[in-house]
Amino acid sequence: MIRVLRVFWYSFWLICPACQRGRMFRSLFTMNVRCPTCSMVYERDSGEVSGGMAINTALLCLIAIGGAVMAVTTTIPTGQLLLGVATIMILFGVFFYRHARALWVGILLLAGTINEDV
Ligand SMILES: [Zn+2]
Repeated sequence: MIRVLRVFWYSFWLICPACQRGRMFRSLFTMNVRCPTCSMVYERDSGEVSGGMAINTALLCLIAIGGAVMAVTTTIPTGQLLLGVATIMILFGVFFYRHARALWVGILLLAGTINEDV
């Protein structure tokens, strides 16, 4: 359990979950192929980015559901609510993108499909 929390903690902060030192991103939206410190491969195939996108999409759906609940339970005008929820979803989707990809790397590490000993 401690290992799971450790992996998610370092992944969330965009630090390599294997060595806890290497930075996972070399620029704002570009993930390193390998850890610059321990050389662990973050993304073996190009399709593995879809796991991070799924995490991001699931969280965006939760925001949308929250907006729908607010539409039913509050008296906020629908147009304003829709604009606010859409703005939050766009900003969250962009800002959480790197964290979602890094969390997916952590999940792959925990699942054993990528190895710390590469
Ligand atoms: Zn590393």
